[in-house]
Amino acid sequence: MSATPPNHRAGALHGGPRRGLRYISSMTPALNFCSVCGHAITLRVPEADNRERACCDQCGAIHYVNPKMVVGTVPMWGEQVLLCRRAIEPRRGFWTLPAGFLEADETTAAGATRETDEEAGARIVLGPLFTMYDVVHVRQIHLFYLARLVDTDFMPGEESLEVRLFDESDVPWNELAFRTVSATLRQFFADRRLERFGVHTGSIEGSPRSLSGTATPALATMAAGLAP
Ligand code: ZN
Repeated sequence: MSATPPNHRAGALHGGPRRGLRYISSMTPALNFCSVCGHAITLRVPEADNRERACCDQCGAIHYVNPKMVVGTVPMWGEQVLLCRRAIEPRRGFWTLPAGFLEADETTAAGATRETDEEAGARIVLGPLFTMYDVVHVRQIHLFYLARLVDTDFMPGEESLEVRLFDESDVPWNELAFRTVSATLRQFFADRRLERFGVHTGSIEGSPRSLSGTATPALATMAAGLAP
């Protein structure tokens, strides 16, 4: 997760060495100075455009801000699912599926596999895409793939305090880090009861703070089990 400069990060699901800055930067302007010429940025609507952009009036560059992709997996071992307890903010101490920012020059499948290795030290066989959630208010899109663990020789990576397998009845629903994680897990157990895994999409709405809230969320458009 080092491919983009910290001030380009649109909120951190998972942090790194500069995680504090990256998290704070989620809702701050993406750019103060032009990355081409160093001149101060002006926020205005460019000609023939329809929304405000970070424009450089010195060299003419327009700096577009687009959502970040967060990619992860639902690693299965028999009836159990692997979760990681976060060692970093935001949501330190809460449980999550292994996931993190997609790097440049990386496929979503490769990114999900890499994050599973980095956070859980887990070797997997990646399965199909399972959920995709728009999280517009923090400018992110979260993708989770189904995955099968190859063995149980996993161990916490730098960003995890603990990694372990959970039966459905043991999942710490009130201690999950993110609403996209709880939504994905609920959908996973629902599909497993039906013995048929689909692809589920939805969106999570709310203030930046509510991304990590475990209180009743403002539910969005798709009935994809978005409540934590
Ligand atoms: Zn410039």
